[in-house]
Amino acid sequence: MREAELIKEICACGAHRAETVPDGRVVLSADFRGICAANQCGKFDRCWVCPPAIGEIDALMRDIGRFSHAVLFQTVYPIEDSFDIEGMERAVRHHTAVTQRVKRRVQTKSLGEYLLLSCGGCTLCKVCTKPSGQPCRHPDLTVAPMEAYGIDVYCTARRTTLKYTNGTNTVTYFGILLWRE
Ligand code: SF4
Repeated sequence: MREAELIKEICACGAHRAETVPDGRVVLSADFRGICAANQCGKFDRCWVCPPAIGEIDALMRDIGRFSHAVLFQTVYPIEDSFDIEGMERAVRHHTAVTQRVKRRVQTKSLGEYLLLSCGGCTLCKVCTKPSGQPCRHPDLTVAPMEAYGIDVYCTARRTTLKYTNGTNTVTYFGILLWRE
């Protein structure tokens, strides 16, 4: 019942779909730290909620194990083609806005202990303060990426009916809400 209510709320925030992860069991792999370190996204060591600042992956995966419930959600955004960089940037902004709405709604619920994660590094500021060593400007608003916690999004999505990709000329991003009562 609680899951059904949250799924409705998350979709009302603009998510394309949201679904319970059976038994709250997300798929984890420490291999994601190496993938982050390869820095294809350019955020490694340049964002407060990305590695290495976010912490050791083994400890973060143990954190995930403390939660008994999980709802995986996704946004799907249309782009012109696979070269539509501006469209992809709009998709990121859209996903960030949806995630921030979810964050605000969740804060009004009595969920007990919870953790909201998204994908990719934080994009709230045009330029993150991490490289300059200055404190994060919005520590209450940041949402860390699932990969930093070792969550295998592809394999976790396969435990649900959510599709990892949603057709040509679309981009799909994921987020997850974990909690324990
Ligand atoms: S809120 Fe700004 S300073 Fe903080 S992690 Fe995000 S981009 Fe960096």
